[in-house]
Amino acid sequence: MLESTINTPIIESVFKEHGVSLHLKREDLIHPYISGNKFRKLKYNLLEAQTQKKKTLLTFGGAYSNHIHATAFAGKKYGFRTIGIIRGEELGNNLEKTLEGNTTLAFARAQGMELYFVTRSNYKLKETASYISQLKDKFGDFYLLPEGGTNALAIKGCEEVLSTSDSNYDYICCAVGTGGTLSGLINSSYLHQKVLGFPVLKEGYLHQEIEKNTSNTRWELNRKHYLGGYAKTNPDLISFINRFSKIHQILLDPIYTGKLLFGIFNEIVTGYFPKNSRILAIHTGGLQGITGVNSKLQKQGLDIIKTNYES
Ligand SMILES: *Cc1c(COP(=O)(O)O)cnc(C)c1O
Repeated sequence: MLESTINTPIIESVFKEHGVSLHLKREDLIHPYISGNKFRKLKYNLLEAQTQKKKTLLTFGGAYSNHIHATAFAGKKYGFRTIGIIRGEELGNNLEKTLEGNTTLAFARAQGMELYFVTRSNYKLKETASYISQLKDKFGDFYLLPEGGTNALAIKGCEEVLSTSDSNYDYICCAVGTGGTLSGLINSSYLHQKVLGFPVLKEGYLHQEIEKNTSNTRWELNRKHYLGGYAKTNPDLISFINRFSKIHQILLDPIYTGKLLFGIFNEIVTGYFPKNSRILAIHTGGLQGITGVNSKLQKQGLDIIKTNYES
């Protein structure tokens, strides 16, 4: 696995007009299945699970979760039993049918992950001690990975995304779900840099969550580009992703990195970034999420994300 990734220059005439440059840090190339920031977040947690001599990893996620996908593969690779608590009890009613229509869960199952489907109201209890102790009664002892994989060790892993050669950028930009990745970037950024997070969901608590993880104040959340909410898309986003992959030969996912780049492009055009800004955007991976969104788009008769970007 790659520990430090390449930065690909993204060349567009509109950047030249606005006097800025953009590079994309290719964390998507770290590993084909333990993609991007999910590798960073798992690294120290798996080492800790080994130190604690745990045999089982238990975690939580939605039906298309990149974290579930990565944990299932990493668990198999490093010899852990894995249990995925999945939001949506109805998905468990006909497991075979669910797996047929959901490549994320089918992949996780194929790695040996035990999938356990729970109601949305039970899912909300996932951080309570009483629910966790019920899970221990059911599954035996385990190492708990929170939803999205974010905890202190995950943030420590994300502090390794930036390397010393990244000190020449002025802005570091990243998509934000739970804020764990952004927290790691903030902690490891250089004094002259500003870290910009682009939340992919509409929420009001992220700022406080991130503040708990860092004492540094050189960061901001840009809430203008979540496009309706988590995993919501619109035709502009889909055509942006298709145009981007055609020109730059780099795929973006519609949930995280597509919204990030869409947001950065818009902010460049509207003049947010001062002249001569050097911008580094983090490609956090997550490309396995394309299939799930494409099948929803297809059902609605809308354009889908083309994954064969050479043609
Ligand atoms: C999970 C994920 C994120 C969000 O990471 P957080 O640490 O939860 O903010 C961003 N990009 C991709 C591709 C992801 O899979």
